[in-house]
Amino acid sequence: ETVKVETKDRSYDVVVGPGALNGLEGLVADADRVAVIADKKVAGLHGGRLRAVLDEAGVDAAWMDVPSGESCKTLEWFGRTQQFLLDAGCTRKSVMIAFGGGACGDLAGYAAAAYMRGIRFVQCPTTILAHDSSVGGKTAINLPGGKNMTGAFHQPIGVLYDTDLLRTLPDVEVRSGMAEAVKHVLISSKKDALGLLHTMELAEMGEEELIRLIVRGIRVKADIVGRDEREGSVRKYLNFGHTYGHAVEAAAGYGGITHGEAVMTGMIYALILSERITGAGRELTDALQAFAEKNGYPLKEISSHPFDGLLGYMKKDKKASFGDLHFVLLPEAGAPEVRRVSEGDCKAADREYRIRTG
Ligand code: NAD
Ligand code: ZN
Repeated sequence: ETVKVETKDRSYDVVVGPGALNGLEGLVADADRVAVIADKKVAGLHGGRLRAVLDEAGVDAAWMDVPSGESCKTLEWFGRTQQFLLDAGCTRKSVMIAFGGGACGDLAGYAAAAYMRGIRFVQCPTTILAHDSSVGGKTAINLPGGKNMTGAFHQPIGVLYDTDLLRTLPDVEVRSGMAEAVKHVLISSKKDALGLLHTMELAEMGEEELIRLIVRGIRVKADIVGRDEREGSVRKYLNFGHTYGHAVEAAAGYGGITHGEAVMTGMIYALILSERITGAGRELTDALQAFAEKNGYPLKEISSHPFDGLLGYMKKDKKASFGDLHFVLLPEAGAPEVRRVSEGDCKAADREYRIRTG
């Protein structure tokens, strides 16, 4: 399957399916040098596969492993990527390959955006969550006081999403990525959101069903990014579940809970807010909560984090302007809207969330 992403900066294909990595040869064909930045754990599990594709293409690539997961998204590792690219002899005619989950893709993408003011790069995402993060051109690393606080928009020249690599993903990462896939369905589809929540079971999911859902998520993301690359309008809808979710993630110290798990909590919260503010019914909220409980999402993680702490994080959110609270609400499936919400409503929804999930 191929999904086209068309932005003002660049148009590119997202190729999804078993063996998608084989498409690499065409993307690096005219590069004077190829460099790989890989998540260390992913390199250990699947590096041989990537090396084989590069060998086959006759490419002798420079290779750098970075710490697995979030710990690579630091200024220190960003600095090391720049030195690595220079030492590898990369020029503006070179192509860099990002090989790993969303964390590695964010770091490597930012590295490509900055090196010589921007070189071409290919995203080879290896997690379910990265169906989201590898598409759309947002790249970033963390600062000591804030997540994704320095970064750039830099579109890849292609995304190769090889679903063979997903087989080694631990359950917790499957849950994390699936939350974003569910988000993409909820914000885009009136028709079958409820049905999907009622029937989908992550543990039972076959490869074809998984690929179908991922492709669907990528289409939603590609469509939105194509209409609004710089988040002036509809791209904001992708933040559904993220205002509260980010606060939960921050309160848990970016370790106790994965991004997607926190977003699941945030989506349920946003639906409760939607009930209060837009008069939405409870049906969708209940269905999402039941889905989350059935599939092992840690909805009670927040019980150790009082509302005031979460509120502090929400006010510091990049998307908030000077302490104003804005949420993506869902009066009904497929119809997101951004609303300014009062602290009182926020607090009431928080209380209601804790009661319903307690
Ligand atoms: P991750 O990259 O931290 O990976 C999670 C863990 O899974 C890591 O330990 C990693 O080593 C391991 N892993 C990766 N692929 C594997 C595989 N195939 N088999 C076994 N283990 C594997 O997590 P993630 O959920 O992919 O990404 C989260 C990051 O994405 C966050 O930093 C978040 O800020 C970012 N993000 C960015 C965007 C964007 O638009 N740029 C969007 C959403 C999220
Ligand atoms: Zn997210």
